[in-house]
Amino acid sequence: MIELIVADRCTDCGTCIAVCPANVLEAGQAGLPILARVDDCQTCFMCELYCEADAIYVAPDCDRRVAVNAEEVVASGRLGQYRQHSGWDEWADRFPNEQWLMETVFRRAGEAAALPKAVQPDLIGRE
Ligand code: SF4
Ligand code: SF4
Repeated sequence: MIELIVADRCTDCGTCIAVCPANVLEAGQAGLPILARVDDCQTCFMCELYCEADAIYVAPDCDRRVAVNAEEVVASGRLGQYRQHSGWDEWADRFPNEQWLMETVFRRAGEAAALPKAVQPDLIGRE
């Protein structure tokens, strides 16, 4: 789930608000986005991926919040890591877009969902 936005890094571009599919974020009175509906977060990482300022931290735990503070997150080096390893923006020449490796997983999930339940296990582990 999204855990925090590091105010010192945020440029108030509004992109995270626009890309969030679950409407978790909204513009705050001070300009910076606020986490208005964290319980609706889908842990999709879109806000982190699109934040060119590397100001957003999304924890990989989908079920519960993780207590973190800005100093810890900045020191951890995790800010911007997902964008980097996705080969976006300035990382395009140095990192492959590893998210594309999930294409087969997504395709199989779609195929499995479309089949009767009795047949679904046959897809697991298929090359
Ligand atoms: S995308 Fe990043 S820089 Fe832009 S408003 Fe959101 S947190 Fe701030
Ligand atoms: S991780 Fe996805 S659902 Fe959660 S706040 Fe970011 S964009 Fe929205």
